[in-house]
Amino acid sequence: MKKMLTTALILAATTTSAVNASDIMLSKSIKSTLRSKIERDLGLIDSFKFKTAASARTLKVMEMSALSGHGASEWLNKRVHYVVSENALSVFNLLVKRIIFVDQKDVDFPNNQIIPYSMNKDIQKNFIEPNPGFSAEGSFTVMSNIGSALYFGGKNGRQVFGMKISRGLLRKAEKVAITSPRAGIIQVGEGLFAPELTVNKDNQDALANSIFRLGTFFHEARHSDGNGVSLSFMHTNCPARHDYAGQPACDENLNGPYTVGALMMAEMSKTCEESCSEKDKEILKLLILDSASRILTTTHKGEVSKNWDATPESL
Ligand SMILES: [Zn+2]
Repeated sequence: MKKMLTTALILAATTTSAVNASDIMLSKSIKSTLRSKIERDLGLIDSFKFKTAASARTLKVMEMSALSGHGASEWLNKRVHYVVSENALSVFNLLVKRIIFVDQKDVDFPNNQIIPYSMNKDIQKNFIEPNPGFSAEGSFTVMSNIGSALYFGGKNGRQVFGMKISRGLLRKAEKVAITSPRAGIIQVGEGLFAPELTVNKDNQDALANSIFRLGTFFHEARHSDGNGVSLSFMHTNCPARHDYAGQPACDENLNGPYTVGALMMAEMSKTCEESCSEKDKEILKLLILDSASRILTTTHKGEVSKNWDATPESL
């Protein structure tokens, strides 16, 4: 889940060979105005012309030999399959439409004795408790990987959840069984396009705006990876004195969602170098630094943070 501090931000397919981000299915429950904006961003990555060769670190983290628009698009498409609206899990949808259902019971999940790193209570007690009133006012969720959350929730209860994805009024909803964190169901809120999160408010179509939103997609996509201890690359609470102290908005690894988001934003920003305004470039830089600041190079145990195993577990 990517939480955004509004104040900080103001400051600042189905065939294997032709899979790309435009194959990501957008639920019909997404309003048409929002849909076209999301489609435009996803369409952009397919044909993205990366200005220079990617850094060695980007290639290592993304497990790529070279970075291209098509390659980045494929990477995203392996991890994001559906985009659903922010109302997807409303009480009405849950209780009346029964959008979430139990698909299988008494299921033996892989790594069922292993607690994900960030869920370990020994870790959480070393950090100050989150301020409960804070997130209601100071930050809001703009995008969330509910597929990986539903996988983990199901695993805890030894059951496989399913989710109905709307395909329109006259068509039967698609039923997705969530058998892996790679179910790839991402919830997107209108907040993603809110003025507070828009780099260039004067020009909605500015490349910098799409770069930031795509960075958020890459961040969220990383939550579809991992197994056992690394499952879903869950965030840990940021330590005391951190800008996000007590918020589950930090990574104690070097290849998690904040790393992927920061690296991909930085790579895309290189293309922005000549075409974007100085102000846009400056804000993008701040946003990249904001993500980078959440990557803790030392864990709460005082150990050097490492790369986690990104292999996704699956039934
Ligand atoms: Zn996240």
